[in-house]
Amino acid sequence: MIKKLFKRVFGKSVHTRIEGRCHIIPQDVHGVRRDKISPAARKVTDGLQAAGYAAFVVGGAVRDLLLDRHPKDFDIATDATPEEVRRVFRRSRIIGRRFRLVHVLFGEETVETSTFRRMIESEEAETDEHGRLLRDNQFGDQEQDAARRDFTANALFYDPSNQEIYDYHDGYADVCSNTLRMIGDPAVRYREDPVRMLRAVRLSAKLGMNLEPATAAPIAKMKDLLGNVPQARLLDEMLKLLLSGHALECVKKLRDMDLHHGLLPMLDVILKQPMGERFVMLALQNTDLRIHEGKSVSPAFLFAALLWHDVLSAWKAHQDVGERPVAALHAAMDEVLNRQQAQIAIPRRYDTVMKELWLLQPRFEQRGGQRPVRLLSQPRFRAAYDFLLLRCESGEVDSQLGLWWDEFQDAADDRRAEMLLPDDVAKKRRRRKKPSATAQVELPMGQPLASDAFAETVMIDDALH
Ligand code: ATP
Ligand code: MG
Repeated sequence: MIKKLFKRVFGKSVHTRIEGRCHIIPQDVHGVRRDKISPAARKVTDGLQAAGYAAFVVGGAVRDLLLDRHPKDFDIATDATPEEVRRVFRRSRIIGRRFRLVHVLFGEETVETSTFRRMIESEEAETDEHGRLLRDNQFGDQEQDAARRDFTANALFYDPSNQEIYDYHDGYADVCSNTLRMIGDPAVRYREDPVRMLRAVRLSAKLGMNLEPATAAPIAKMKDLLGNVPQARLLDEMLKLLLSGHALECVKKLRDMDLHHGLLPMLDVILKQPMGERFVMLALQNTDLRIHEGKSVSPAFLFAALLWHDVLSAWKAHQDVGERPVAALHAAMDEVLNRQQAQIAIPRRYDTVMKELWLLQPRFEQRGGQRPVRLLSQPRFRAAYDFLLLRCESGEVDSQLGLWWDEFQDAADDRRAEMLLPDDVAKKRRRRKKPSATAQVELPMGQPLASDAFAETVMIDDALH
């Protein structure tokens, strides 16, 4: 009764304890039970604690559980050094050169375990000429580890043994009010690591959290600092953003904040053409839908979609100066891919699949003779057909073409025979008796792939993480 009265008078604060600068929030206030933590992550915190170390679930997982979302993974923070963690868990390995983390393995699950780190004081920090931190790999204590994180919501520590949350930056209150707030001075933190601007956009879009005004304010002035971030890191962040399940929302936010220049250079051009914009938005929406349905998403497909209208205009330009369609398409693809290479490092390993998807597109137009059946047997048919459907939906090609292929691929042989159009190409070829004439309309078949970039799952490795 008294407890209830206190609660009414003082709100939830009667339940929290304050130790030093840390608020400790008990389970009956925050509501996250230990059975929400994956068994492997629990084994890691239990094992480390039994060996006498501090160990907590930290970062995105705690935030997601408080928001009633399913965490992507469970990261652990501890005061044990990587070597000490290794000694506690036989099946573990130290990874990373710049900052060493331990991967602890339990069956299928890998639990990333990192030692508390501290932010390096400005006088000893190693930065580039724009103030970007080049290293942040000093061990520290829990409080210092909280301070070096980006947002208050990402700096909460959950102890599965007593189910308490340790909060140094009022992150719990921010999560409760759906606020994404930068720890410390936002301008300083963006200068140290400009990728935090992209994280602000991605996390606010993904979690439906509002960017606190002081956190949002410096972005407009500081966005050019993204130009100094190594390309590989930008690409990692772009992939996280595009594969977050909220790509459409993220790209819209990037555009609203004028952050997309130089980041997705293709968007600068494409989004200016109404047809290109519609196509890109549909591709993003389609990716989000696939992720929500638990289907696989291929970065190569997504990049191929993002660059398609660029390829189309280059293809047209080459044909306008008299090049034959096939040669013009090859030239256009190479031109677009080389241009992208110079701006953002889309890894070359995706090129083969992207080219295959593009090269197969004109072949959907050919609906006579044996060509449609041959196209069906292409290993990339399914992806190329999905790509065609996006083109239909965006209004670039007649939707009848998509409907035709939809029926043709599942039709019985006699229905297929009825559906085939008169075989003009074959007639032309017979008339001319020149094998090269077919090349004008029939595009080369994709060669077997050296590497299967399409099926590849992307390992996203946040360089500073
Ligand atoms: P997601 O759900 O997308 O994985 P996340 O917040 O867990 O979101 P991670 O990239 O997995 O993102 O990073 C884990 C944690 O590491 C973050 O919650 C944050 O505390 C810290 N972190 C990651 N990137 C940065 C950064 N650039 N600056 C400071 N802290 C960072
Ligand atoms: Mg994470």
